[in-house]
Amino acid sequence: MGNGLTMSGIDIAALVAVVADAISAHADELTALDQAIGDGDHGVNMKRGFEAVRGETVKLAALPLPEALKAAGTKLVMTVGGASGPLFGTFFMALGKELPAAADRAAFAAAFGKAVDAVAARGKSEAGQKTMLDVLCPVCDALVAGKSPAEIVAIADQAAAATVPMKAIRGRASFLGDRSIGHMDAGARSSALITGVVAAFLGKSA
Ligand code: ADP
Ligand code: MG
Repeated sequence: MGNGLTMSGIDIAALVAVVADAISAHADELTALDQAIGDGDHGVNMKRGFEAVRGETVKLAALPLPEALKAAGTKLVMTVGGASGPLFGTFFMALGKELPAAADRAAFAAAFGKAVDAVAARGKSEAGQKTMLDVLCPVCDALVAGKSPAEIVAIADQAAAATVPMKAIRGRASFLGDRSIGHMDAGARSSALITGVVAAFLGKSA
């Protein structure tokens, strides 16, 4: 894979560990974000789901990457709950479904795009509505444009921050109307967290 991103020979167990560690370490922050404009369960939801995925490490590590992604997505759907569980689950299941066994960067970017489309279809949502898509879409664009892992991390963080002035049009925060303005979207933050550790991980193993 070009630009310091590699998909071949990925250490799935190590990848699962860095993502679960990041979500668990930031669970309180995610909960606080969701408390401001939601119901305050996002951190607990995500931690439960990604720790459940961690619990399947041995099984996942024995699978080819696309199959491991599908299995992780299925586990997330079953364990995260809320609105975000089916959406993150859909993302990983679709990514696994679309990813060829030997993916180069272009194939990874294309599969990522299909996974983002699957989330948008499932959520009946699009970028600009103050959701996880406000991070996933710019990250997808960055991947297609061949940005480096460090650039992708920065783009994801900026994209999450850019949800602060947005008005929520989808999800629980949309019930607040204008009062959703001024807070970062919790799912955008968790998407940026996952993007950050995965990009750093793939960059390092390149
Ligand atoms: P719930 O809102 O059911 O309590 P969570 O708190 O776990 O679920 O997740 C909330 C996050 O899910 C939001 O911050 C937002 O990013 C994301 N989300 C909610 N609805 C949608 C949707 N229709 N499309 C995309 N993302 C959504
Ligand atoms: Mg919530």
